[in-house]
Amino acid sequence: MINGNYEQIIKMISENSQLPVEEVERRIEAKRAKLSGLISKEGAAQIVASELGISFDKQKMKISGLLGGMRRINLVGKLIKLNRVVEYNKNGRSGKIGSFLLADDSGNIRVVLWDVNHIGLIERGEIKEGDVVEIANGDIRNGEMHLSSFGDIKLSNTILENVQTKPTLQHKPIEKIQMNDNVSSRAFVVQIFGPTFYSVCSECNKKVNELGECEAHGKVIPKKNAILTLIIDDGTGSVRAVLFSEQIKKLTNTPEIPSSEEFMLQRDNLMGKELIVEGGVRKNKLSENLEIFVNDIREVELDKLLEELEKH
Ligand SMILES: [Zn+2]
Repeated sequence: MINGNYEQIIKMISENSQLPVEEVERRIEAKRAKLSGLISKEGAAQIVASELGISFDKQKMKISGLLGGMRRINLVGKLIKLNRVVEYNKNGRSGKIGSFLLADDSGNIRVVLWDVNHIGLIERGEIKEGDVVEIANGDIRNGEMHLSSFGDIKLSNTILENVQTKPTLQHKPIEKIQMNDNVSSRAFVVQIFGPTFYSVCSECNKKVNELGECEAHGKVIPKKNAILTLIIDDGTGSVRAVLFSEQIKKLTNTPEIPSSEEFMLQRDNLMGKELIVEGGVRKNKLSENLEIFVNDIREVELDKLLEELEKH
């Protein structure tokens, strides 16, 4: 999730607020500037939507279109894995938590149930693995959908085909990470290597040789790319997180790939920072160590900010 839905959100905000798309974009940029780059453009869009009083409650969303901080989400999905109901007793509060993995044709997401009535449906087997369910008023937090007593869950007659059964994102400690996992890790930056720069073909993004020639496209005007490696540690272990240009720009919050000099100015600031890193786990061919190939990265502060906003 949290990828490539910015345009969709802008369109939704524009349609629901009657503001032109350009005005919505202007407000989002202003919000980002005000928060001095603490937030992604998707995150800023969420805040602008919430300030305009727009919830996404009239739309049925696709799982791949869900973003952290979204509220009152409706969707239909197939329950592909039911987890055991657990009881908790923490800081004087006790209760039960139910959870399951819900899938549609775009992806899957863990749904967490907090309401005894909803949990009862699972305990009595009225909702079980393989069922298609309709969920109303769910909130997205830390990559999961949370359903409180304000939400609703019921069986649906919808027939869903080609649901994505492979978990799209797993939240697990770094020591448990395995090859081919698609993980979301919350960890601290303990070392930084790079960035190193190289040139790629502007047509196909493949590396060009020293003469600026692409194997497929011949002589081209090369494009600058960069690679940055972070060592991140969550207390259970550490792992390399490999970032390419788009993710580096997110990390440094710059419109272009920063030069070495520009990066050095931010380096100290990045060391020790807590990040949420999402990506696929691969094995480094030379070192045989596991690495996360990052496809989304953000500071933990963003989630805190969105949580704060949800309280109002
Ligand atoms: Zn090429």
